[in-house]
Amino acid sequence: MKTVLFHGTSGSGKDTQVQLLVDRYAFESISTGDMFRAMYQEGDDEAIEAHQYWSKGIWVPNELTHRIFKRWVDRSDSSKNWAFISVVRHLEQVEMFDELLNRYKRELDSFVYFSLSDDIAIERMVLRWVCNKCNAIYHEKYKPEIKKGYCDVCSSVLEKREDDTVDSIKQRISENKRTVEPIINAYKQRDIFIEIDASHSIEDVHKVVVDRLGL
Ligand SMILES: [Zn+2]
Repeated sequence: MKTVLFHGTSGSGKDTQVQLLVDRYAFESISTGDMFRAMYQEGDDEAIEAHQYWSKGIWVPNELTHRIFKRWVDRSDSSKNWAFISVVRHLEQVEMFDELLNRYKRELDSFVYFSLSDDIAIERMVLRWVCNKCNAIYHEKYKPEIKKGYCDVCSSVLEKREDDTVDSIKQRISENKRTVEPIINAYKQRDIFIEIDASHSIEDVHKVVVDRLGL
């Protein structure tokens, strides 16, 4: 079973790439974004506390995230490959994440980083629509839905993420840059770092991912 951590500039399409691995290579997608949204909707007390931060584009404190995350990973299917999305964002979380994987007798096989310029990242995100029921993601330019305004998968009405405004996006990009550098260095030292140019089409990037992960 593979255990891979995906990271990248906001808007680099990492969610879409992981979804392709879920559909084609028996991966389970595990992200703090899905976690916060799902558990907030379930009325979880700690997720409601976290919502006060992320709904405004403010950093959710590491300790709070980690407490919720431990409960979230317990729900994952251990017989599958695991694709974590951006769950390590501060250097101190590298070790926390190792310990967490250890509880499931797993070790990180690869750290995949999707890189993208700021301009492309912003353009990609302001035109993004999501399905809050099945978590499918669409884009007005790159990945439009078949019936406008409705999810291809489950026919629900598509919505904007409340944190997908230009200001909130710019804040996320700069926050991301500031914090990701030391994490990249930490995983480079372990020789499991893979950088992938995310400016190409979804299928082209997917081919590179499959190739680099040896799937
Ligand atoms: Zn849907």
